[in-house]
Amino acid sequence: MKRLTDKFGRQISYLRLAITDRCNLRCQYCMPAHGIDIVDRQELLTYKEMYRITRILSELGVNKVRLTGGEPFVRKDFVKFLESLSFNDHLDQINITTNGALISKYIPELEKIGIKKINLSLDTLKADKFKQITRRDLFAETWLTFEKLLASILELKLNVVIQPGVNTDEIIDFIELTKDKDIAVRFIEEMPFNGKGLRVTDEVWDLDKIYAEIEKTYKNIRPLIDKKSSTSKNFRIQNYKGSFGIIPAFTRTICNDCNRIRITATGMFKNCLFDDGVFNLRDFIRKGAGDEEIAKLFIDTVQQKPKNGFVAEANRKDKNVSESMSTIGG
Ligand code: SAM
Ligand code: SF4
Repeated sequence: MKRLTDKFGRQISYLRLAITDRCNLRCQYCMPAHGIDIVDRQELLTYKEMYRITRILSELGVNKVRLTGGEPFVRKDFVKFLESLSFNDHLDQINITTNGALISKYIPELEKIGIKKINLSLDTLKADKFKQITRRDLFAETWLTFEKLLASILELKLNVVIQPGVNTDEIIDFIELTKDKDIAVRFIEEMPFNGKGLRVTDEVWDLDKIYAEIEKTYKNIRPLIDKKSSTSKNFRIQNYKGSFGIIPAFTRTICNDCNRIRITATGMFKNCLFDDGVFNLRDFIRKGAGDEEIAKLFIDTVQQKPKNGFVAEANRKDKNVSESMSTIGG
């Protein structure tokens, strides 16, 4: 089997696919209050195109797919698409990142389809702050999803974007959730991908600062052995059921073992979160490209994967890293 390997010997086995650029929330760190300029529907990849792309990639060694967005569940028939993907037996894992505001009713179906892991984005445990961060009053719905996911067979991770002056005072409350719940809480460094939301802050909360904050409260933090391609540095408080991790998304100390590629909702292929797109797969497919041509394009493009996120950023045509995460598929 031909494989996707870059010139640094990193093997690509993980696709992050954005289902849509639309979202039902307006998180401050992701987009401005009025939202982003969403594209016309016909510019989005169709499910058939996404299925085909995933099939070709899975024949080249991709065995894990994460579906993200925008909010994947706002696109009509997303659950049906999940079901069709589940028939691809090259895929060991189909995982989802969601804000959870719409999904509690779908959980039994997700279990039936065989979805393994859900990352639920939740930046606060307080309803009023949730409204301030997301600009939508949907904490109760999101919390219901959290509780139902806890009771389900799905593996649950919470994604918490650390926002200076907004939720740094809740870091310990999030860790306390892991005391008797088998969940992984991951604190994410905030990145400037906010659709020109122009958030200004003097404080930088990077991995070291987040860890130092946690160390002030706990003396019994145990490091966990991370999978080679893990995006987070992971720990457990001794005798706690769950774990916590820190994702150095912005300081980018994890690039050496990167095994990921991304495809945006409009079909832009990205070798790295920080590049500004390598080629538009949708246009290539719609011009009538055959499976072998598409596979060759993937193999050749992955060769060019930049060494790390800093190199990718330096190579951008548009130097300003300000597109919204909802268009990239975070
Ligand atoms: N809407 C879904 C959600 O929020 O989970 C999926 C898409 S969202 C873009 C994926 C992840 O990116 C979320 O966990 C979100 O918190 C994170 N994210 C968005 N903007 C970010 C930023 N500027 N810095 C760091 N993480 C960000
Ligand atoms: Fe929507 Fe997710 Fe962006 Fe929040 S982080 S606005 S939920 S895409």
